[in-house]
Amino acid sequence: MFGRRGLDVKTTDQIRKMRVAGLVVGETLELISGQASAGMTTGDLDRTAEEFIRSKGATPSFLGYHGFTGSLCVSVNEEVVHGIPGPRTLRVGDLVSIDCGAIVDGWHGDAAISLIIGGREAGSARDLALMDATETSLWAGISALAVGSPLYDVGAAVQDCIVDAARADGATYGIVEEYVGHGIGTEMHQDPQVPNYRVRDRGPTLKSGVTVAIEPMVTLGSAETDVLDDEWTVVTQDGSRAAHWEQSVAVTDAGIWVLTALDGGEKRLGALGVAYAPLT
Ligand code: MG
Ligand code: MG
Repeated sequence: MFGRRGLDVKTTDQIRKMRVAGLVVGETLELISGQASAGMTTGDLDRTAEEFIRSKGATPSFLGYHGFTGSLCVSVNEEVVHGIPGPRTLRVGDLVSIDCGAIVDGWHGDAAISLIIGGREAGSARDLALMDATETSLWAGISALAVGSPLYDVGAAVQDCIVDAARADGATYGIVEEYVGHGIGTEMHQDPQVPNYRVRDRGPTLKSGVTVAIEPMVTLGSAETDVLDDEWTVVTQDGSRAAHWEQSVAVTDAGIWVLTALDGGEKRLGALGVAYAPLT
């Protein structure tokens, strides 16, 4: 069933299926964040992820997507998104974004995290602040999702959060505009797109059963990006580092269920005063 501008609505049963896929993604990211360490290659992380995803009876959705050769996107330092796993060796202090997608019974989950190789103590204050601001903006965006609200309020919430964080951190943050969030369901990328910044149009009005992936990408400088000759890896034009956080989310009359978060978003939503609404 499609509403205005392709706002796809899922049934409770379909959202439960998406939760199964979402949990595989969340668990994969948890596993990888625990293993990523100096001396490993991005390809090592990818092999671990693919094996884990398949062990759960799921299929890695990135692998083979328009010819992509990994099960993860691993984007290091000035790489923003779509980094191809391979021989690159991770070093202490690298800021790494890991994006993962999985399919179970035809239903997709999609999420991303950012981390510092060697742990937070190995990160520069600037990188840690960027990483945290980006994650906070993701949850601000998620918190703007509510039945009856305009979808593009998400981008306004993300942008306001990043502007406030830049002021508080004494930093220059750029919100990448070329890559945005999206609807998700029986395909990884469905309509509508979800900008991470304020647009004049407020977008379609949210209905119960909408599922979207929210995914701010923020840089320590200019928001302008280039794509490398590998035709995938997106890098900042000015070489500044970037962070990326993503969750797949279901919006229902009862509230929000973060399908790719291990706790369904209960803790973060609770802290923000947003109704946590698992469809159990
Ligand atoms: Mg993703
Ligand atoms: Mg996505």
